[in-house]
Amino acid sequence: MDHILQTENLSKSYGKFKALNNLTINVPKGAIYGMVGRNGAGKTTLIRIITGLNYPTSGSYSVFGVKDNDKNLLEVRRKIGAVVETPSLHPEMTAKDNLIQQTKALGISDEKLDDILKLVGLANTGKKKAKNFSLGMRQRLGIAFSLVGDPEFLVLDEPINGLDPQGIMEVREMILKLNREKGITILISSHILDELSRLATHYGFIEQGHVIKEMSAEELEKVSRRSVHLNVNDTKLLAEVLDGMGAEYRVYSPNEADIFTPIQVTPLVLALNEKNCFVNSMSEHHESLENYFMGLVGGARNV
Ligand code: ATP
Repeated sequence: MDHILQTENLSKSYGKFKALNNLTINVPKGAIYGMVGRNGAGKTTLIRIITGLNYPTSGSYSVFGVKDNDKNLLEVRRKIGAVVETPSLHPEMTAKDNLIQQTKALGISDEKLDDILKLVGLANTGKKKAKNFSLGMRQRLGIAFSLVGDPEFLVLDEPINGLDPQGIMEVREMILKLNREKGITILISSHILDELSRLATHYGFIEQGHVIKEMSAEELEKVSRRSVHLNVNDTKLLAEVLDGMGAEYRVYSPNEADIFTPIQVTPLVLALNEKNCFVNSMSEHHESLENYFMGLVGGARNV
């Protein structure tokens, strides 16, 4: 089995409204799959369907190679851990006691709880009650809940929403650890595209309930445009030289500009020197995930 999750023309209608419209995605085994889509694109609807919280109107899906109409679906769903809505924690309990409750609810052993607490960075919270946790700690405890069943596939709906930069970093480190050390395949939806780009190995770009593009991070890297950012003494002189070369560029200020056409640095610097335009600094950048997404869905591109 190469894919942990596959959907085929999955649709979900509410009356005449199609929250999912022939949505087809493929989540490879071992991936961190980033689902990118605007508000209302259908991300949560998809997650609710594959975790068994809702049903499709038409189309099909399979998890761990088992089709949604197969009687073994319930069994394989046990291998999915999900944080879909804010998990209901017991505020008066410690992190560990919260997890003990969860093992009791699932009727499974609690012997791995210390490992799980370590994995999510909550091993040292001791007697601290969940009500006194930061939002980031609560989020990680929620993810710990979903790890209790020892999942092979983790589904996280907006796991870093509302977190501060420290909290975001902690959740990011944890997600990477779960993927790299435990080999867990992770499906993650997020609005914070910059953050997603630090994690994802694969992307699905969703718009109006439909996947408009699916690609690996490597493919994205290849197609996303590179730019060279320059700081010069006078962008007017820079513009004259770039116009002469027929290069595509954008000037931001009397000193800052981006060049989008691939250029050879030495001839450019020599040509600039001749015009008394001097380069203070130069750095290469990649088009951001956000720009790429906006380009795909027809929003304004930056250039
Ligand atoms: P967000 O990032 O805002 O959570 P999303 O991509 O997760 O967005 P969904 O929550 O899946 O989007 O919603 C997709 C669309 O389906 C939205 O327009 C939403 O209003 C609609 N929708 C979701 N659930 C229902 C429901 N039970 N009844 C009617 N419409 C619904």
